[in-house]
Amino acid sequence: MLLILHPDTDKHSEEYRLTIEHLECLADVSYRVHDIQGKQQKLTEIYLLGDTKKLSSDEISALPAVERVIRISEEYRILGRHHDEKRTTGFEYNGVTFDQDSFHLFAGLCAVDNPKNVEEMMRALKAHGQQCTRMGAYKPRTSPYTFQGHGKNCLPYVFELAGKYDIKVIAMEITHESHIEEIHEALEQTGNPTGVMLQIGTRNTQNFELLKAIGRQKQFPSLLKRGFGITLNESLNAAEYLASEGNANVVFCLRGMKTEAGNPHRNLVDFAHVPVVKRLTRMPVCVDPSHSVGNHDRDPSGILDVIHAAAQGVISGANMVLIDFHPHPSEAFVDGPQALTIPDLPRFLDDMELCRETYLKRQKIYQTDL
Ligand code: PEP
Ligand code: MN
Repeated sequence: MLLILHPDTDKHSEEYRLTIEHLECLADVSYRVHDIQGKQQKLTEIYLLGDTKKLSSDEISALPAVERVIRISEEYRILGRHHDEKRTTGFEYNGVTFDQDSFHLFAGLCAVDNPKNVEEMMRALKAHGQQCTRMGAYKPRTSPYTFQGHGKNCLPYVFELAGKYDIKVIAMEITHESHIEEIHEALEQTGNPTGVMLQIGTRNTQNFELLKAIGRQKQFPSLLKRGFGITLNESLNAAEYLASEGNANVVFCLRGMKTEAGNPHRNLVDFAHVPVVKRLTRMPVCVDPSHSVGNHDRDPSGILDVIHAAAQGVISGANMVLIDFHPHPSEAFVDGPQALTIPDLPRFLDDMELCRETYLKRQKIYQTDL
């Protein structure tokens, strides 16, 4: 059972005290308080866990701090929708809003290689009005003998350059909980010039200890990639691990499924699940066409398969696109062949804007049915 308190309920108020007192007396029921800082107000939600079936919704609704009560299913307790359209979605981070109505592009380097390429990328993003990017410092590689990423050594220049070019949020994969502290320290050292969204890669979707560590910290939001060989339900439960530890600022990212059926693409594109994730959960949904498609091939009209896949995701309502770019793909240490180049950037942005507008127009066509 979920209790939504009146907005901006003061934890020192009499209403809050009486409400908590009542909850503490319930037999076989424990509670967990979850605060959500919105743009205008703070929302407090209380999750009742345990034997809640015997509780009367009317009685709990009557508690002084409670605005309303929602009976929730076992699945995705925090991140799920539970047939309640009024619950807010998403979060704000470093001045950027991420929710199921927002739209952001995260074009950038799969792997940071040197300051020159990072700067070229960021300069191009700024010139085209972008405020987010992707930059891989810790790379999970199939072979232990290939480039593993520059790790913490590259963080200071990546963050400084992000500040120089007004980049507000960098999606950056971490593969171990110690990387959270390394990122935190590098941001402090450089004077917090930018923000970081911690990415959990598809190989770590069910690394529960990593998920719990990321969920325990409150500084950074996270982007969870769908596991490439598990069900959607299993991946959504992985996201719930983050939220259950206290940090529900999570974006869910589709990135294709590993199967021979996807050939000649690297993975089978699964962007038809964009609306499914939006229906089942309150998470903003991202698509990663680069790691789904994994090549630089184009159709007879000249449009890259990667861009077609991105368009399919956006036209279905994706809130974010994570996409590999590189100023000189032949110099890239990781995933060069699938990277788009700087001259591709304006065309890609125009295309994505068109797809986003089309999605909004599509929504209007169906709004009368609701
Ligand atoms: C990446 O985004 O760089 C990456 C490794 O993606 P994935 O975890 O989806 O393979
Ligand atoms: Mn990659």
